[in-house]
Amino acid sequence: MNMKNCARCGKLFTHIAGPPLCVKCREEDEKDFKKVKEYLYEHRGATVTEVATDLDIPVARLKRFIKEGRLEVIEDSNLLIQCERCGISIKSGRYCDRCTIELTKELKKAANESVNISKQILDRSERDEKMRYLHKSKIKLED
Ligand SMILES: [Zn+2]
Ligand SMILES: [Zn+2]
Repeated sequence: MNMKNCARCGKLFTHIAGPPLCVKCREEDEKDFKKVKEYLYEHRGATVTEVATDLDIPVARLKRFIKEGRLEVIEDSNLLIQCERCGISIKSGRYCDRCTIELTKELKKAANESVNISKQILDRSERDEKMRYLHKSKIKLED
């Protein structure tokens, strides 16, 4: 048997599966979940904040519902996905439009840079050749 403290009220209970909540809190959870479902049925496209405010349910609980896969994030909801680069809220994907453009630029720049670097190495070895030549000739003159 797996005894756990309820994540919400702290009561010790027998944990079998699912969220670490005691029977009472789990019932409350179910009630909340039903309320949320009904609310979303009437208010399509509502945001997490709107639901939390109107139903007086903590945002964390709503997010848990989402995490548990009980609530689905609407595709054009821009509340829960964040750009991996700058952290701005985005609608889909991993990066915001600006970062996508910048990342593409950076990739291109990186590709150009490697070309430039090999050119620089070539230039340098050419110059080194000349230097060596100058150096040599100078020695000759001094002799
Ligand atoms: Zn509890
Ligand atoms: Zn970004």
